[in-house]
Parts: sequence; C-alpha cells; structure tokens
Amino acid sequence: MTDNYYVPNATNKINEMSKMKFVKLSDKELKEIATFYQGVMATAYEGLFYREGRVIGDGILEMIPRDSDILEKAAKLIKARGWVDEVSFEEDKAIVKGSIEVNEESAAHTCHRLCGIIASVYEKAEGSIVDVKETRCESLGDDHCEFDVDKRGF
Ligand SMILES: [Zn+2]
Repeated sequence: MTDNYYVPNATNKINEMSKMKFVKLSDKELKEIATFYQGVMATAYEGLFYREGRVIGDGILEMIPRDSDILEKAAKLIKARGWVDEVSFEEDKAIVKGSIEVNEESAAHTCHRLCGIIASVYEKAEGSIVDVKETRCESLGDDHCEFDVDKRGF
C-alpha cells in the first residue's frame, strides 16, 4: 500500500495549518489604515472591511475541527488571533470587549471586519444566511461592542 496520494484527514489538516504564516498589525496601524480608506472612499470602505472580515472568518472556521462546538471554538480563535479581548456568542447577538478595531476618535461604530467575522461564524453555526449589524460600539463610548444577528436572513 502506498501513501503517495492526498488523503484529506485530520493529520493533513494539522500539517497544513502548521505551515500557515500570519502577520501582526497593531491597533494603531489598523486605525491609520481605516482613516486612510475613509479619506479615499468615505463610508464605502466599511463594506470592504466587512468583506475582509468574511474572508478572515472563513479562515478561522477552517481551523475548527468537525464535530466541535463552532461558536465556542470560534470565540477562542477570534480572541487568540487578537481581534478581541473577549467575545461571547448568544442566541441572537454577539458581545465583544476590547475589539482591536475600536477608535475613540470615530463618530460612528468601527468594527466592520469583526462584523464580517461574526457573520461567517453564525452562518456556519446556523447553516443559513444571517444579517449582522453592530448596534453598540466602544468607539462611541459604549461599555462593549454588540452585534445583532438576524437569522431571518435577507
Ligand atoms: Zn465596535
């Protein structure tokens, strides 16, 4: 028996993940990037950041082993990747403390990538399309960031 062909199994998945590379960006750099894009394209950057978040969220979901609790594992990975200090996924909302995207100088909520990440996570957990909106944000002086999850889809 030869094993010179690709068999997608848990060992291969772990090998793939161990070869992944990551970059680190500071909160200050993220703020400057957001300010730059805002200057170039006004609020249109929010949709792009949301889409970035979807890509990141899908990447995080790929790291979660099958048959595990998606919301619980996703919360740990989102925290480990530095996006939040704390995140809890509830029935129809996500509560976040210490989002890396918070910018106290902003006049609007700022956690657009996190919104995309959370949408990806709930869609995987629910198995259907969800609509996620940030309704509270530490950038606006709120105690935490809060994301409403509409499971009716759209
Ligand atoms: Zn926020």
